[in-house]
Amino acid sequence: MISVEEALDKVLHYIKVLEPERKPILDCLGQVLAEDIHSTIDIPPLDNSAMDGYALRAEDTRGASESSPRYLVVIGEIAAGSMPTKEVRPGTAIRIMTGAPLPEGADAVVRFEDTDEVSHKSSKKDLSHIGILCGAKKGLNVRCRGEDIARGNLVLRRGQVLRPQEIGVLASLGHSTALVIRRPIVAILATGNELIGVDQPLAPGKIHDSNTYTIAAEVSRYGGIPKILGIGRDSVESLNEKIVEGLDADMLITSGGVSKGDYDMVKDVLAEHGEIGFWTVCMKPGKPIAFGIMKKEEGGKKKKVPHLGLPGNPVSSMITFEQFARPAILKMMGKATLAKPTIRAIIEDDVANNDGRRLFARVKVTKLGGQYHASLTGRQGSGVFTSIAKANGLAIIPESSKGVKAGEVVDVQMLDWGEEQGEEKKLPIVSIAGKSQSGKTMLMEQLIAEFKKRGYKVAALKHSHGGIEIDHPGKDSWKFTQAGSDAVCISSPVKLAFVKNLDHELNIGEIMPIIGLEFDLVLAEGFSKSKIPKIEVHRKELGDDLLCSPGELSAIVTDAPLATDVAQFPWGDTVAVADFIEKKFLRTVS
Ligand code: AMP
Ligand code: MG
Repeated sequence: MISVEEALDKVLHYIKVLEPERKPILDCLGQVLAEDIHSTIDIPPLDNSAMDGYALRAEDTRGASESSPRYLVVIGEIAAGSMPTKEVRPGTAIRIMTGAPLPEGADAVVRFEDTDEVSHKSSKKDLSHIGILCGAKKGLNVRCRGEDIARGNLVLRRGQVLRPQEIGVLASLGHSTALVIRRPIVAILATGNELIGVDQPLAPGKIHDSNTYTIAAEVSRYGGIPKILGIGRDSVESLNEKIVEGLDADMLITSGGVSKGDYDMVKDVLAEHGEIGFWTVCMKPGKPIAFGIMKKEEGGKKKKVPHLGLPGNPVSSMITFEQFARPAILKMMGKATLAKPTIRAIIEDDVANNDGRRLFARVKVTKLGGQYHASLTGRQGSGVFTSIAKANGLAIIPESSKGVKAGEVVDVQMLDWGEEQGEEKKLPIVSIAGKSQSGKTMLMEQLIAEFKKRGYKVAALKHSHGGIEIDHPGKDSWKFTQAGSDAVCISSPVKLAFVKNLDHELNIGEIMPIIGLEFDLVLAEGFSKSKIPKIEVHRKELGDDLLCSPGELSAIVTDAPLATDVAQFPWGDTVAVADFIEKKFLRTVS
């Protein structure tokens, strides 16, 4: 058995960076630039205005203020795209738009807001004069020629991956095409007598070929061009026929037929076409992998096409693709970073690793309070496709480890990284605030019951001024507290309680990660000083005033209507309050 790293090294050893091609810049997104780009122009090409305003001489505005404007004669106007025809002489100004070239003589632009133009216009006075209401320094609101890019500058280097912003830079320099490393064409072949196409009805003993589609989508995702060869049967003739079609490509990926079964003949067929390595990689899932080099004559030249034979199991094939095919595709494209982004996360489940291989466990990663948490996505069998469909990462349990316990920190290779990740998951929290005796607890009870009835998982958070006991005097845990333990945790099959001594009270941000992500809503009683959404319970007999300032309140529940803009609900209409909370905090926009 070889390690994942050894297997990857062997694969990458045979992979070459492809040759460059010139294409329209819009087709280059995500590709690696194969030329240095020097600018032949200045950007901006001329000194120009950064604001809509008046181009003038800074010294003419000296001492100007709202109470004592400096009046200048307006001698013209320049829009973006046209050239100035007049010079700004002492005592004059030219009305100028953003991006328009600065006229001769001017050294600053004062924006409209700092002139009396608005009052002028409303009083329909003519615009032959303008009052400047502030003093301007030389260069104010002026963008200088070449300030962004000067002629001759090295603007983009070869090796750089072109993102939308680099494509924009190329456009601003007047390049309609760029020289980039070409995308690899990756031929994809599924193998197995049991497979039928997605468009065929299922027959007894048959399954739809899904690997072709997963692999093709992965190839596209990482920048390659998939070439689908279809389904090869478990016979030497069928595989031979298909594989020949794949020899035009830059790489061939097959799935299935690499195990030790009677019909696993991919390796035999490939051996006929070139060299084949057949490895057992120390990983789970995905142990058997074939890698070889197929040789082909092309125009008298010998061409070598790398072949990666992935296992047939959909999960294994995707995970081995990520470990070996993805870096190969990226290398062919000239990319420097081949590793998948990896984060450290707290694992939420126990994960055993019994057979001394590197385990890639399918997990869903969420972020809470700045910390990543990873939970298993269900059964981990390599045939369980849904477990990888629900996952956004692979937790890595090293071959040297017998497993991890919930709460330990693990490395997680992120399958999705970027926008798909979305925002940090936020657990909705609403506090029920109010003066003492206002009825907060009763409203809490009613709301908890109402939300439970609606099928939500609710956590209640209570603020207490004194200490907290979780067990009655005489019980063991109480004795531990008495003996001075810093924390007491009581765990049973149906409940968990944890009380920890603190030297200062935790804030809500620190408490939320402890509550965890499994709830739909946290209802807090009190916490009137915390910056969280609040509903105040008000009772007339305790006074007309509120405990919280109305600006902080999402709603008020009261026995006597108050003169305020804040939403109000009468005491007792818990359903309406719950509707309000549900609509405002629990329904995410879809
Ligand atoms: P093999 O590696 O050929 O022994 O296949 C292992 C398992 O993966 C078997 O259960 C196959 O039916 C399944 N399998 C192989 N190829 C595919 C495919 N293209 N799509 C879906 N399942 C497949
Ligand atoms: Mg098979």
